[in-house]
Amino acid sequence: MPITPLMPVYPRCGVRPVRGEGCYLYGEDGARYLDMAAGIAVNALGHGHPKLVEAIAAQAATLMHTSNLYGSPLGEQFAQRLVDATFADTVFFTNSGAEAIDCAIKTARRYHFVNGNPERHTLITFDTAFHGRTLGAISATDQAKMRDGFEPLLPGFKYGKFDDLDAALALIDDNTAGFMVEPIQGEGGIRVASQAFLQGLRKACDERGLLLVLDEVQCGYGRTGKMFAHELYGITPDIMAVAKGIGGGFPLGACLATEEAAKGMVFGTHGSTYGGNPLAMAVGLAVLDVIQEPGFLDHVASVGARLKGALEQMVPNHDHLFEGVRGEGLMLGVKLKSDARAFVAHARDHHGLLTVSGGENVVRILPPLVIGEAEIAECVEKLSEAARVYVPMADE
Ligand code: PLP
Repeated sequence: MPITPLMPVYPRCGVRPVRGEGCYLYGEDGARYLDMAAGIAVNALGHGHPKLVEAIAAQAATLMHTSNLYGSPLGEQFAQRLVDATFADTVFFTNSGAEAIDCAIKTARRYHFVNGNPERHTLITFDTAFHGRTLGAISATDQAKMRDGFEPLLPGFKYGKFDDLDAALALIDDNTAGFMVEPIQGEGGIRVASQAFLQGLRKACDERGLLLVLDEVQCGYGRTGKMFAHELYGITPDIMAVAKGIGGGFPLGACLATEEAAKGMVFGTHGSTYGGNPLAMAVGLAVLDVIQEPGFLDHVASVGARLKGALEQMVPNHDHLFEGVRGEGLMLGVKLKSDARAFVAHARDHHGLLTVSGGENVVRILPPLVIGEAEIAECVEKLSEAARVYVPMADE
């Protein structure tokens, strides 16, 4: 078989969406799907949100791209809004999560470099982490499936055990720059860090002059019912990578940092042709306007709690298949006793329900944050029905 024009790096399924509306996707063949995947935690406002559509159309007609050679009124406005809403003093805009991670890694290294400690170049990251697919991001994970065949990778990473504070602290040496961690691992299977783990990493950073880098690409931007997941832990990072929800479907990411942590990021140290262009900034402002509407995050927290409760009630009815529910807000996972990918395919192909599999045989449920009660009920009904008729393959 000749190679396909689309580089065949994804095992794409048979769903071929051509249109979306709210929490639903419509296929080329007219099939309708309840979208509990939301582009893998991206479409925070659902599909076709009028405010987002309007902002894109208006900005595209006004000014789409200029380059970072010129002043950026919209970029300044959006960065200020993010600074006002977070721990950060400064923001670098990117086009993706992996680029935000690369910027975070560079910012951390430069910090120690300008402090006169260039040997402090190593970030401690964690097993089953996923930080993206650039060479920097795959170097930051120990998952062989991301790394194999791409060596030599970037030096300067050590891998600890997720949620094991003592093991993480034992990895600190003279070369340590800091830690980089997802407060809630997404791809790893909705693994929620404990309070003691994240607070312990923060404390170790404070005591030893290290940097805490958080990857909130998947768990940030309202997904947990807080603007950022670290708010659930009562800590703040020094540097944070954000993407996915920040653009609601438009390719946008950001690396946020404190003034201290970003002190090495001076003229000429970093850049991006498209990063923060006027179209992206108009999108970012429109999404943030909606997320900052009074009651929006409370809505995420309350529907998330209701969905989690309903899933927990469903689990014992299908205990041949389901083991338990985990997660926060609308970043939820149902742990299976058999292969999650096969069940995700079954729910998709036979029940019109889109979910995503994650590590540890977890079915990820990551709906648009604007999801309502009716769709929550439909999701649980479809999952339950899918589980009732599902027969795991014998060799699973
Ligand atoms: N970090 C986390 C936690 C992610 O979940 C992802 C993507 O799934 C990334 C980084 C990479 O983001 P992107 O695919 O936009 O490069």
